[in-house]
Amino acid sequence: MGMRILMLCVVLTQIVACDVEPDIRPGARYGRSHGVALDEDPSPPVVVESSARFESRDDWVYLVIADTEHRYEIMWAFPPDYGGLVKLKPSGIYTFTVEERLVFPGIDYRVQEVIKVESNGRVIYDREVCEVHQTRMEKKRVPVWYGYIVDGPGEPSRQEELKSFPHRREYLLGGCVSGPESPQTALLYMCDDCKAAYDAWKLAHPSAE
Ligand SMILES: [Zn+2]
Repeated sequence: MGMRILMLCVVLTQIVACDVEPDIRPGARYGRSHGVALDEDPSPPVVVESSARFESRDDWVYLVIADTEHRYEIMWAFPPDYGGLVKLKPSGIYTFTVEERLVFPGIDYRVQEVIKVESNGRVIYDREVCEVHQTRMEKKRVPVWYGYIVDGPGEPSRQEELKSFPHRREYLLGGCVSGPESPQTALLYMCDDCKAAYDAWKLAHPSAE
């Protein structure tokens, strides 16, 4: 409702192509919430108690965590746009819960993702909890939209969206290239409070349409 979508792709018989690829990096550069699909069949999570060490490489900051059995290097932050899931002190010891998952449904590329962080027995990050509203979110099956999709006028900026309602979208952007194998649906975490906050924002910012 109220959203204008411009589909700018050239549509061929089975392939839609344009300049935008799905951003398959975990968290993407806009924050963890933007278009991160959940694995349909995730492997069992692994718990690692470790300090938080950071390494910079290829514009990314990697979180390096290890115990006697595991060692992970996980894409963590993309400065200055994205600071990571939660602030971690290099001197601190944390309990990380890590899940290996597909980055995008249909693309055979797996990464490790931190799904929970505890510090001294206190949960300081939980993937299932909205970082704005502290609400436990529900998993929802949503459609995947392909094409070069641009929000129309009268929509909030991306910064506004991340600040106020990061988990309100009931679809996943799949990028511009889709083929017969491309998934049509994906699992996402949705926050009801984000949806309500977005509706309130729309009421407070009537568009000129
Ligand atoms: Zn929320």
